[in-house]
Amino acid sequence: MRAAVLLICAFAASACAEKLFHGNQVLRTFPDEQQREFLHSIAEDYDFDFWGEAPGQVDIHVPRIYSPIVQVLLNRNMIKYEMFIEDLQENIDAQADRFRAEQRDLSSFSYNVYHTFDEVDAWIDNMAAAYSDIVSIFTVGTSYEGQAFRGLKFSRGSNNPAFYINCGLHAREWVGPSTCIYAAKYLAEAQPGSDEYTMLQSVDFYLTPVSNPDGYRYTWNGDRMWRKTRSDNNKRCMGVDPNRNWDVNWSGEGASSNPCNDAYYGPSVFSEVEVTSQRDMVMSIPNVKAYIDIHAYSQLWMWPWGYTSLAPADKSLLNQMGLDSVAAIKAVHGQTYEQGQISRVIYQASGSSADWFYQNGITCSWAAELRDTGRYGFTLPERYIQPTAEEAWAGIKVIASYIQTGQC
Ligand SMILES: [Zn+2]
Repeated sequence: MRAAVLLICAFAASACAEKLFHGNQVLRTFPDEQQREFLHSIAEDYDFDFWGEAPGQVDIHVPRIYSPIVQVLLNRNMIKYEMFIEDLQENIDAQADRFRAEQRDLSSFSYNVYHTFDEVDAWIDNMAAAYSDIVSIFTVGTSYEGQAFRGLKFSRGSNNPAFYINCGLHAREWVGPSTCIYAAKYLAEAQPGSDEYTMLQSVDFYLTPVSNPDGYRYTWNGDRMWRKTRSDNNKRCMGVDPNRNWDVNWSGEGASSNPCNDAYYGPSVFSEVEVTSQRDMVMSIPNVKAYIDIHAYSQLWMWPWGYTSLAPADKSLLNQMGLDSVAAIKAVHGQTYEQGQISRVIYQASGSSADWFYQNGITCSWAAELRDTGRYGFTLPERYIQPTAEEAWAGIKVIASYIQTGQC
């Protein structure tokens, strides 16, 4: 298949700057707080990025050329580590067949493969056409590169409270969009008597599978490990972290001023059109009672605040919902998800969407990290899409049940 890429490259050099990851490694390190700071201090020198971070556990992606020296530095600083991914390009190639035939209609659409942006966009039209009695399309906005991006609204009632489910804010977290797509399938195909059918009579669902379209497309044709938007800020590096760009303690703890950092908060608050589009879309919906921003990986189900370790006013409600959600998730395939306040489960993170919507009146505001716990990380193979979507849906239904009972 690589030959096919080279052939295409010969004819369209501009489209062929695909970044390769041969020999790059992902290490799970086990640093204490001081050692974690040390890792951050050397990250730029050795060109590594952080995949996942939680107290006592940090996953780093190290380029092949720096891998030996980074391992020496880890040993010298007594930082324990484990090799999680030996050759990232092998994982990427094994994750999905990116050269399969396009799936542009519902009959050929497989829910168990990862999809390009164009396939998702065609699927949105097809779903709205096939289930026009309950499904309608909404446009969230137009991306920095000029791509309109859309979502699906599901409703069987009128003036129902709404639940907004956002996926794909971080481009490389492919299982997120796949999970949103599965959620739409569950709602669309629900038969009378099912939970989903009953829920739809009292709750409207809004789903956006790909909320960072430029970044997502770039993970298919440029850099599989891209996380940010693709805005050009006339800086050394492109893109802004769309989950650090919101007006909640913007530019504070847990966000970076460095444009080359994956957690770059941007040149100004709400600088990213994908972020303001989502903000305006959600706020334009009357009666939104719940919001969830779906990410990967780490298996976490989290509530505000991210920017501070102070507890939110609705802590006891959110904590109970979290406990109910992770129990429902576990019941599906036995997977353990941890629930809790963002800043306590992972680290302080300023300028995130869940915090912003919570601060602006959506009491049941969530941030989820789906599978896995790091063995594959962002290269989660396609065979895990379905079980991941099934258990995530169980957690999402718990939140919907809190809307139904009027607790959100
Ligand atoms: Zn993410």
